Amino acid sequence: MYIIADVRHFCMLQREKGCSHHATMEVSMNKGVSLSLHTPLHEAFRLKPDQWRACERAGIKTLRDLLFHFPSRYEAAEEAGTLTDMHTGDHVTVIGKVKSAATRKAYRKKIPLAEASLSTEHGTMHAVWFHQPYIARKLVVGTFVKLSGKIAERNGKQYLANPDVEEAPVIPEGIFAKSSEKENQNETLTAIYPESAGISSLWLRHHIKTLLAGDLLAELADPIPDDIRERYHLPALAAALVFIHAPRREADALAARKRFAFEEVFFIQLARLRDRARYTESTSFAIDIPESLIDQFTARFPFSFTNAQKNTLATIVDDLTKQTPMLRLLEGDVGSGKTAVAATAAYGVTLGHPKDNKFAKLQVAYMAPTEILARQHFEGFIRLFEGTATPLALITGSECRKFPSKTNPKESTKISRAQLLRWIASGEIPIVIGTHAITSEKVAFKNLALVMIDEQHRFGTRQRAKLTRKNDATPHLLSMTATPIPRTLALTLYGDLDLSVIDEMPPGRKPVATEIVPPRARTAMYEKIRKEIISGRQAYVICPRINEPDPDKASAVIAKSVKEEAARLKREIFPEYEIGVLHGALRPKEKEDVMAAFEDGDINILVATSVVEVGVNVPNATLIVIEGAERFGLAQLHQLRGRVLRSTHQAHCFLLTESSSAHVLERLKALERATTGFALAELDLSLRGTGELSGERQSGISDIGMEAIKNIKLVEAARIEAAKLVARDPELTFSSALLDRVNAIGSHLHFE
Ligand code: ADP
Ligand code: MG
Repeated sequence: MYIIADVRHFCMLQREKGCSHHATMEVSMNKGVSLSLHTPLHEAFRLKPDQWRACERAGIKTLRDLLFHFPSRYEAAEEAGTLTDMHTGDHVTVIGKVKSAATRKAYRKKIPLAEASLSTEHGTMHAVWFHQPYIARKLVVGTFVKLSGKIAERNGKQYLANPDVEEAPVIPEGIFAKSSEKENQNETLTAIYPESAGISSLWLRHHIKTLLAGDLLAELADPIPDDIRERYHLPALAAALVFIHAPRREADALAARKRFAFEEVFFIQLARLRDRARYTESTSFAIDIPESLIDQFTARFPFSFTNAQKNTLATIVDDLTKQTPMLRLLEGDVGSGKTAVAATAAYGVTLGHPKDNKFAKLQVAYMAPTEILARQHFEGFIRLFEGTATPLALITGSECRKFPSKTNPKESTKISRAQLLRWIASGEIPIVIGTHAITSEKVAFKNLALVMIDEQHRFGTRQRAKLTRKNDATPHLLSMTATPIPRTLALTLYGDLDLSVIDEMPPGRKPVATEIVPPRARTAMYEKIRKEIISGRQAYVICPRINEPDPDKASAVIAKSVKEEAARLKREIFPEYEIGVLHGALRPKEKEDVMAAFEDGDINILVATSVVEVGVNVPNATLIVIEGAERFGLAQLHQLRGRVLRSTHQAHCFLLTESSSAHVLERLKALERATTGFALAELDLSLRGTGELSGERQSGISDIGMEAIKNIKLVEAARIEAAKLVARDPELTFSSALLDRVNAIGSHLHFE
């Protein structure tokens, strides 16, 4: 049936051919406009206001945007199956003869609709167009049409819901299927674009083909150097654009997709490697760190370091002794003990001095993504640094604190921002922990030697960048992440950073027992939780939303909200327990009080949004319930369950979902199976169609780029080529088309 190319594999393009293409639909082109890539869409085409808005929403504003709006897959009518093979939700294309077409109003809701039935090779197919009664008038009984859309089901009857309609202009010989496509002799594949309200694939196909037929392609300079293209058999840009939108053969489409996938990964890597080359050109403090003092410091921890912690620490300390700035990513699963490594590295830095002043100390900035976390690190550091005569500071949007306080050497004290800024500027405070408030221009360090960024994936590029520019010497940079990243993705996204992995958990940790809880097992789950709470444990309940559902949106799927769920649990399930509420809309002081009460065990159950996702550390909390689990990304779910991996008690994670979609369940099952983040990352990469894990949202890598990420050979090839170019010409000035692309990519680092 109809389905082709879920493009998973890349194949080499054998040769490039000239291509022809035919526009089969009358596209209303505005006359007399001379078109360039920058021409706004509405100047080139006559668009209705809703079409124009829909395009804008999809990010298509200019003709260039339109040309680079790629299909997500292709359909061919060749592999016709039977109608009985079709499943609700399948996207299909059928060709058939119109048997009937009529309009009516949907029962009850009074929605005007068009209905048609089509006789096809395999039986009768019904189609319904809601809110588009006029379609019935266009369907002439006895003519052949091609419908493509999704199969929906109502009262056990399948129908095509709001399919695109295209005339099948040549009356097929025999009956339908293959021969009906002869009309497009050069195109046996139909491009299907990502669904987007208001723009149909049909509309896109025809408008894009109009552009492909014009002179625009000649304007495009290919940013990939010719020799690289030839080496990997990648089609040239213009050919690839034709191939991707209007392929004649699957191989052409694949070759084009491979090119664009390579291109995306290649340019990210070029940008990262150029950043790295620039960054490492500057000098930083080469810090003398006696090993014996490091050993003394690590002895302060209530545990001994795992081998993985020792190894990564040794690597980092070695980096710090060099004049070349460190650029390192410390990757370790949730709970693997990155903080201990970071704290020790921070201590190491405080042992150093600027060259010109043996009495001054070097400084460390430690940046955390949330106030809760910054505060928690601050408290943790206080316990570690007590008695080392190392002043510490906390700086967040809502408060500034300094340790030790003048009156009590074991406590911190609240101080004015102005005072703290003075002490940071004079170099008197060597370790400053904070949220992004630390990146404020007013925070000027005297001798900033090391910047550490916790859970770095939570920060925008700009925030990361700003922190590193406080003084003349370039600070060493240590990024930390618990987001498990497949190697290919790390090579790409963090191509500027050296990678250290903590691949070992502290001893005695049992993996979190994770289970998907079907709606009927909810009561049993609450009883399990009650038993654990009775034996002294605490629980998190995570909800996707903060507030009660908006009553106007009653028809939409309603996700559980923190406030409502907390009230319900208190009322119906756990009246005997203290239930706390934590979410991003609380004031910092409120958050802090709730966290303190939870840490002290005064709250048994904490109902929260994903604000607890990162780093929060309450070892006695061993249960986590995640409502609406399908609404969270896999990486996020893994982070969330990491919240209960903090002690030696067996921890449990319960995933609740109302969804019965096979795709959702498959994803959640991956969490049941894969206990480590890395196993999960690899599984996820193989599972998913589009960016979900560390992809898309955070990485900005497109669907097509993710296709490359699945292919280690391609990623490595791109890296080798990028490294060669940067080594030859670090500023990449040899090609302006190439440089433009590189410059359009954001940087992790900042350069004056
Ligand atoms: P993450 O890598 O997620 O930032 P943390 O640094 O917060 O992990 O550590 C998680 C917990 O494990 C903390 O309670 C910490 O004290 C503890 N921990 C860290 N390293 C060890 C170790 N080697 N042995 C035992 N417990 C450890
Ligand atoms: Mg951490």
